[in-house]
Amino acid sequence: MEKGHTIPILGQGYVRYIDHLGTDLRIVEAARISYKSPSKGVEQDKKLLLYLYKHRHTSPFEQCSITYNIKMPIFIMRQFVRHRTFRLNEWSGRYSELADEFYVPGQWRAADAKNKQGSQVSASLDHAALTKEVKASNDAAYATYQNLLKQGVAKELARMVLPVSIFTEVYVNCDLHNLVHFLQLREDDHAQLEIRELGAAMRQVAENLFPWTFEAYHKYRLTISEKPQDG
Ligand SMILES: Cc1cc2nc3c(=O)[nH]c(=O)nc-3n(C[C@H](O)[C@H](O)[C@H](O)COP(=O)(O)OP(=O)(O)OC[C@H]3O[C@@H](n4cnc5c(N)ncnc54)[C@H](O)[C@@H]3O)c2cc1C
Repeated sequence: MEKGHTIPILGQGYVRYIDHLGTDLRIVEAARISYKSPSKGVEQDKKLLLYLYKHRHTSPFEQCSITYNIKMPIFIMRQFVRHRTFRLNEWSGRYSELADEFYVPGQWRAADAKNKQGSQVSASLDHAALTKEVKASNDAAYATYQNLLKQGVAKELARMVLPVSIFTEVYVNCDLHNLVHFLQLREDDHAQLEIRELGAAMRQVAENLFPWTFEAYHKYRLTISEKPQDG
């Protein structure tokens, strides 16, 4: 995969591949140190990696990592930063003027009657009218922001009038074990659609770099109902 490869997400957002460390073989090599045993060929190496994944021998997967540059709305960033093992740096609204870019969903969803964490596109919503109303509200908020800046208010304060749908940007590095953990939680259908779209793009990059690991992911991934309880 070319460095800089960019996958568009969530309107004006994206997931961009910066670089990575390791390969599927690195994971196998790291695991084989336990017995100081050499590789027994590609087929056996792949078999070992699938075994490690299936039986949750997770530490060899921590030998590999990926760095992404991600642009996403702040309300998705709030979910993203709950993953404490990610190492990240964010664009600062204290030091730079934030851009006039807001996430507006293509279709509006109503709360799901059965799954209380879910939502569904609803025919009873007036999609065009909602989009118009939200865009007008974003424009008004951004105009207030600009007006505060013009009057000399510091960027760190002026930004408080902006909605959480405004885009932010991060550089994030995560090891493969914790990336897979994140994807299991955030590609699950209990997670919000927007973070699922972000997760799918991150996986698309990772799958290219670590094909055996993601073969194991698809084969053995757990759904949220099978996992230990989390928030
Ligand atoms: C569908 C869904 C809904 C959610 N809803 C809410 C919500 O309503 N409110 C809310 O606040 N959060 C919510 N969360 C966030 C959730 O509670 C977790 O904070 C988030 O998923 C990160 O999971 P994690 O802690 O396993 O991952 P990470 O923070 O990436 O940590 C990975 C693993 O490292 C270990 N670890 C990391 N840091 C520590 C530590 N300090 N102490 C002990 N072990 C540690 C744990 O084993 C952990 O599983 C939700 C998550 C999902 C997926």
